[in-house]
Amino acid sequence: MGKHVQGLSTRAIHGTTLKDAHGSPHVPIYNTTTFAFPSTAELLDVVDGRKAGSLYTRYGLNPSIFALEETLAALESAEAAWAFCSGMAAETALFLTHGRDGVVCIGDAYGGTLELLSAQLPLLGIKTHCILGNELGKLDALLADGARLVFFETPTNPTLELIDIRAISLVAHKYGAKVAVDNTFASPVNQRPLELGADFVVHSATKYLGGHSDLTAGALMGRKDDLMPVWNWRKNLGSMIAPETASLLSRSLRTLVVRVRQQNTAAQAVAEAMNKHPKIARVYYPGLADFPGHALAQEQMHGFGGMLSIEVRGTGADATRVADALRLFALAPSLGGAESLVTQPCTTTHHGLTPEERQRRGISDAMLRLSVGLEDAADLIADLEQALST
Ligand SMILES: *Cc1c(COP(=O)(O)O)cnc(C)c1O
Repeated sequence: MGKHVQGLSTRAIHGTTLKDAHGSPHVPIYNTTTFAFPSTAELLDVVDGRKAGSLYTRYGLNPSIFALEETLAALESAEAAWAFCSGMAAETALFLTHGRDGVVCIGDAYGGTLELLSAQLPLLGIKTHCILGNELGKLDALLADGARLVFFETPTNPTLELIDIRAISLVAHKYGAKVAVDNTFASPVNQRPLELGADFVVHSATKYLGGHSDLTAGALMGRKDDLMPVWNWRKNLGSMIAPETASLLSRSLRTLVVRVRQQNTAAQAVAEAMNKHPKIARVYYPGLADFPGHALAQEQMHGFGGMLSIEVRGTGADATRVADALRLFALAPSLGGAESLVTQPCTTTHHGLTPEERQRRGISDAMLRLSVGLEDAADLIADLEQALST
């Protein structure tokens, strides 16, 4: 008989083994910077790593942070997880630890990630290479040349392109390289890259993990041996999550599964309605049977997610008019919250790219990216229909 593996909803609630001395069902906020010891010998046990324990909050040695990290690890089927003050802080610590021999980024990525890879890391002498999802033929040569970290998002932003986690991991491991997946868009409810062969998962916990547009945080999950050197970078970069935020994020994780499943259902309904709408040229959503990534999504995902993009028939200005006419979808460049959001990539997330570069990446000026929240799907569809009829 195999060992019983807990389901994701149970892991979200019981992911931490930490108990409160007073019987609180949740680890409280330890709003303290330092922890006192009964003796020097006991202090040294923790300092030298012979015993686990709280010591200093910037190190991450604080019970509110331990509790969060245990749950984060459980949700991604990881040995360990480190929490950070933002998604970018998690990525920076990962790249500085495991990307120094070169990073290959596949496909579209978050704007901050692309800027870090193309503008900042090269200043430190780190070689970075960005290839598109249809340029995978270049991957072997870059790995043979010494790059030791492959990084990608799937589904990507904003075209929801699917990248094959299992296949990329097999190629990278042949060269002794490691694979990191930014799992922000899918969340562990819809996709668990470590189960498919990836070595690291990184999250902007600001999005689905937080889920209420009220906190900024990041997370990195993986094998303990791979994460230990990242711990020192996080410690000395000072990019630790605050105990208050850790507690708020732990609170959010308890409802992650129900939130994301509801968002999956609503996004599917919105995508199907938009797919039939005469004023929409194209819908990008992995849950649509005619979407190019649908088969791969069925294989590597457990749900199709709450993110979709629609291409309005007409120009960028026509899409802007639709975005401005929406009432329930707020015009804001984030995602994953309880409230639905809309952004026009050419004016926000991909504004920094030239029109030619956007075209090369398949990002039309008439594209709108939707983050489907927790409102009733029928009301979201009605809102889109009224905005499209103006
Ligand atoms: C928002 C986002 C990030 C950056 O996260 P922050 O928490 O804002 O630092 C990284 N990757 C993806 C896919 C994102 O959406």
